[in-house]
Formats: sequence, C-alpha cells, structure tokens
Amino acid sequence: MISVKHVFKTFGSGAAATTALDDVSLEVARGEIFGVIGQSGAGKSTLIRAINLLERPNSGTVTVDGEELTRLSPDQLRLARRKIGMVFQHFNLLAGRTAQGNVELGLEIAGVGGAERRRRSLEILDLVGLADKAGAYPAELSGGQKQRVGIARALAGNPRILLSDEATSALDPETTRSILDLVKTINVQLGLTVLLITHEMDVVKRVCDSAAMLENGRILEQGSIVSLISTP
Ligand code: ADP
Ligand code: ADP
Repeated sequence: MISVKHVFKTFGSGAAATTALDDVSLEVARGEIFGVIGQSGAGKSTLIRAINLLERPNSGTVTVDGEELTRLSPDQLRLARRKIGMVFQHFNLLAGRTAQGNVELGLEIAGVGGAERRRRSLEILDLVGLADKAGAYPAELSGGQKQRVGIARALAGNPRILLSDEATSALDPETTRSILDLVKTINVQLGLTVLLITHEMDVVKRVCDSAAMLENGRILEQGSIVSLISTP
C-alpha cells in the first residue's frame, strides 16, 4: 500500500548539510498498522512528511496505492493526497471552530456541500466516540478528546491511509492506550492502512503488525512485530 524505495533527504548543503533520510526503503502492506520507531532526530518526521510529499525527497520513490507520488504534477498530487489522512502530536485544531467545525474543514476543502458535511462530520464524531462533544471548542476538550477530533478530521475525507505523527506523545499513558485502541478499531472497521511514527516501544507493541527501526536516517531493521521482538 505504501512503498518507499531508496529515499534520500538532505537539509542544507556543504559542511552544514544534515542527511535526515539515508537510503530509506520500506513496505507497508494494505490493511496493516506499521510503526516507525526511533529517537528524537532519527528522521521520523521527515519520513512521514516524505510519504505525502510535504517534503520532497532528493532522490528515491514513494508509491501510495499503486501511484508513484514522486512523479506526479502538483495538481495530480493534490488529488492523490486525498487518499491520505494525517494526525499530529499537537492535534493542530483550529481554536475558533467547534469539534464538528474542525472535522468539516477537510470536507469544505474537498468541496463537499453543507448538508452532507454536517451529516458526515457527525457520523465520524460518533465513530470516534465524541458525538456528544460536536459543539465543544478545543479549549473545552481534554487532550484525548482533542486527538479524537484530530482523528475524525483525518477520516472525514474517507482516506485509505492514516499517517500518524507522534499522535499519542502529548498524552498520559491511559489516554494513550485509549487512542491506540481507537486507531486499532478504525484499522479493523474501515480497513484503513496506518503508518505511525513514535519514540515509544510500548506504542509499537500495543498496536503495530509490523515495524521499522530508524536511527540517524537509516532503517536498522524492519519486519513483523513477532520477528522483531523475538530477535535476541
Ligand atoms: P525526528 O522526527 O525523528 O525527531 P526529524 O525528521 O525531525 O527527526 O529530523 C531528522 C534530522 O533532520 C534532524 O537532524 C533535524 O535537525 C534535521 N531536520 C529536519 N527538518 C529539517 C529542516 N527543515 N531543516 C534542517 N534540518 C532539518
Ligand atoms: P517533531 O516533534 O515532529 O519531531 P521537530 O521539533 O523535530 O518536530 O520539528 C518541527 C518542524 O521543524 C518540522 O517541520 C521539521 O522539519 C522542522 N525542523 C526540525 N529540525 C530542524 C532544523 N534543524 N532546522 C530547521 N527546521 C527543522
């Protein structure tokens, strides 16, 4: 579903250059939850941003659902990105919009009409367990509730893939578990492929089917969770 091949990404040039991604290749199968684990500075954010081409690789290819994104024109890329939903560490909600207003935002951009937007946003808020908070503003929500809104917003456009950038890193352990369980539910119910990045092994162990370990911009190992955990 996601295929990254020989991706290099360098910031800056000359002596000040930082190689954030150094020949990264990985394969995420349709319907799985794939974790990328690594410490701060390993290149995780750059990798997730390279997958939807928010960050253009210097070389290498990114293919999503059979489409090679690294070859697309800007217009084609805008369309292809509709297959991809994104969830952020700090939620990135608009403070001046209600939970429902935030979820509707992606639908507005996609040109979905008002009545359909309201119907669909409520349906998704219900799916993430937040139907009763549709009218609440972000400041009135807990961290976990805000992330549920973030997930609902990501799902609004009916994506095939969810990219999660440290989605639970700002949350306490109990809330982290509930959000990970929600991600698993969505993965199963909607058949969504999930790629998540994290610096916490517990996150990977709880929900991921496969994982890759990233260090200094390089993949050290990747495979099924069972094979990674049983490696001595
Ligand atoms: P992580 O998400 O694992 O913490 P990042 O992908 O944010 O890692 O960063 C990987 C490396 O690339 C770091 O050394 C970081 O300083 C550098 N880097 C990331 N983005 C930029 C940028 N826009 N400009 C310069 N250096 C960057
Ligand atoms: P995260 O918590 O996602 O790893 P960071 O603080 O590493 O966030 O990075 C936040 C933003 O700053 C990202 O867009 C990243 O590309 C950029 N960035 C990271 N490191 C650098 C750097 N050394 N120079 C410039 N931009 C950077």
